[in-house]
Amino acid sequence: MKERIHSQFEKRFGGSGTFYASAGRINLIGEHTDYNGGFVFPGAIDKGMLAEIRLNGTDKVRVYSVDLDDYAEFGFAEEDAPSASWARYVFGVCREIIKRRGDVLKGFDAAFAGDVPLGAGMSSSAALESTFAFALDDIFGLCIDKFELARIGQSTEHNYCGVNCGIMDQFASIFGKAGSLIRLDCRSLEYKYYPFHPEGYRLVLLDSVVKHELASSAYNQRRASCEHVVAAIQAAGYPSVKLLRDADMEMLSAVRGRISDEDYMRAEYVIEEIQRVLDVCDALERDDYETVGKKMYETHHGMSKLYEVSCEELDFLNDIARECGVTGSRVMGGGFGGCTINLVKDELYDMFIEKACREFAARFGHEPKVYPVVISDGARKIE
Ligand code: ADP
Ligand code: MG
Repeated sequence: MKERIHSQFEKRFGGSGTFYASAGRINLIGEHTDYNGGFVFPGAIDKGMLAEIRLNGTDKVRVYSVDLDDYAEFGFAEEDAPSASWARYVFGVCREIIKRRGDVLKGFDAAFAGDVPLGAGMSSSAALESTFAFALDDIFGLCIDKFELARIGQSTEHNYCGVNCGIMDQFASIFGKAGSLIRLDCRSLEYKYYPFHPEGYRLVLLDSVVKHELASSAYNQRRASCEHVVAAIQAAGYPSVKLLRDADMEMLSAVRGRISDEDYMRAEYVIEEIQRVLDVCDALERDDYETVGKKMYETHHGMSKLYEVSCEELDFLNDIARECGVTGSRVMGGGFGGCTINLVKDELYDMFIEKACREFAARFGHEPKVYPVVISDGARKIE
């Protein structure tokens, strides 16, 4: 990838620049917990973005996307926004830095490429934002702290790309470390690294390549359910419960008669899922990957039967994993399509992948895409 980028950089701009990289991410466990003030548990992966960058002595950014074979040129003012959607990520990062730090940027040339599959649930967009946020901070000596770099990526999505995302993707992409997952408390934003050295196991994503239309309306309904339950718990004598993070199953049982069965199931899932993240962290401190896997299956079950955000394709992949004796498997991401994440013993890997591809294709007419991942470093300068 480096050679591919550099030959384009040299051809277009002459000479050479400095390389910066960042990464896509997975989330091992903790789904639909973020907006409930709970925990997520992401890590950066060995698929990322790489950019060669150098100051150009002008007040313009000239940037070339090697993968899309597309070029954009823009200034730093709001009205200079490029039209290409990929370039808006780079422009947005520049603008968000300027909003925070003033007129600190100067023109630069850049060529970049990546190997995070687009739109597959590994956050290629966060990899792109964090590569440039990290690089510009370093090149211009801005000393922006890492959390702020993540926020710069998040605000880029909000303000320049029309995606109203949380902080997890950019956080993981900036903070990621090889051999570590990071538990992020979505309420306090405290975080802690946990060792992830699954010797004898592999992590693999199976992308169903489906995205059901239901996703956004269902998401809003789920959020509404969570809010109803919080309101009911507050009214039942627990005014300090502000989010489901503050609730437990006892409180939920106390309001059972005052909420719908559906809202009950939604809240049950969230309360249990927040606890599962903590359980997985404990298990990792003991190197207990069997418990990690068990919790992943519990998450899948909860997402499928209680939160009801799975779909036929994802349940099918989960069933095959179970049949093959895979250690852990669950839908990753918001649901209604996308990937399953699987923790698989080395000796079962080939058999599992072969069977999953064959049986999925026989049922749904196409194979899932297979993405093995290794937990790796996030944003960094390549010396
Ligand atoms: P994801 O879930 O992978 O983040 P998004 O739709 O949020 O999917 O972001 C994908 C967008 O990010 C692409 O449409 C493109 O604009 C940009 N992008 C991602 N990877 C690359 C790349 N390698 N080269 C150029 N642009 C990219
Ligand atoms: Mg994205």
